[in-house]
Amino acid sequence: MVAPVDLFAPQRCPRLVVKIGSSLLVTPEGQVRRQWLEGLVAELAARRSAGQQILVVSSGAIALGARRLHMPKGGRASLEDAQASAAVGQIELAQVYAELFAAHGIQAAQLLLTLQDLEDRRRYLNVRATAGRLVEAGAIPIINENDTVTTAEIRFGDNDRLAARVGQAVEAGGVILLSDIDGLFTGDPKRDPTARLIPVVPQLTPEIEVMAGGVGASGMGSGGMVSKLQAARIASSGGCHMAIISGKVDQPLTRFEVEGIGTVFPAPESAPAARKRWLAGRLKVAGRLVIDDGAVEALLHGRSLLPAGVRAVEGPFERGDVVDITALNGRVVARGLSSYHAGEAARLCGRKSHEIEAILGYAPRAALVHRDDMVIL
Ligand code: GLU
Repeated sequence: MVAPVDLFAPQRCPRLVVKIGSSLLVTPEGQVRRQWLEGLVAELAARRSAGQQILVVSSGAIALGARRLHMPKGGRASLEDAQASAAVGQIELAQVYAELFAAHGIQAAQLLLTLQDLEDRRRYLNVRATAGRLVEAGAIPIINENDTVTTAEIRFGDNDRLAARVGQAVEAGGVILLSDIDGLFTGDPKRDPTARLIPVVPQLTPEIEVMAGGVGASGMGSGGMVSKLQAARIASSGGCHMAIISGKVDQPLTRFEVEGIGTVFPAPESAPAARKRWLAGRLKVAGRLVIDDGAVEALLHGRSLLPAGVRAVEGPFERGDVVDITALNGRVVARGLSSYHAGEAARLCGRKSHEIEAILGYAPRAALVHRDDMVIL
């Protein structure tokens, strides 16, 4: 069996995403922790020399810019403050990375993404192609959310999920989240002395989610353990292994390699095809189809969703929009592209497929969600 830490080694993982959180990168006074970053950049350069393609997802723009603009609450008092701070901080961030990688003869590149860039299929394919081309050309993309133009409803907000989504988009073998904590604990280690580090999480069970619930964000960034577990779900549905490790040491990747301290979320062995992975990693859905137990069984056996098994439709959504498919108890069992808009779907609810034409006057598709357009979660 492969040791969990080896899943991220250059020989096994040709493409790696490393996410760096604000509290690691920026001091409470708003300065870049340059020496620490030099150590990490040296580790990334060594991995690149060993043949691993590297993509960095870096936070820190808001924290850095807030200091320059004298914004209260680290630039997070309002969305406008965060946007203005990010616009200033991102320049400094890019400059520091460019300099530190240049010292190793490596070209850094900047990619600023919005949620929409990865949710919209065409834009997603474009991002994927550009990032892929950059790493093939030997550059290291430094990725952040384009905080300056995102709005409250349509933003990632935390770079944990952004990193997982990027990992899935570029078909990375692994995603490592550098955090201010060693990994996922059975309780909050700050309050509970019996809390233990969980080295491997083979499956994201409800018990694991409860464990993550109690541990909050560090204050400077926005991602706590909950967003890290959401990231793990995205990564694993995309076929990427994920690890949470502490970045509070010098050369954190080496410590992980040598001592194996961290929490690893191995991805299942058979990852779904690329289009389905994109679907599974989407963060926003337009609506919901509630289905009965018989339909749940059918979906788990690889069948399409027929109108007969649908009990309720929640929209609005258009034909081709992404909808969650949930069991009667509210559990999300699948996600897919609806063949009909919400109004049509509501009229077809509980009816047989051969009735579609009589009800709607036309019947382009027998299934409400075809199995090729669906991923089981
Ligand atoms: N994009 C934000 C920044 O650069 C960070 C988001 C997060 O805290 O994860 O400051």
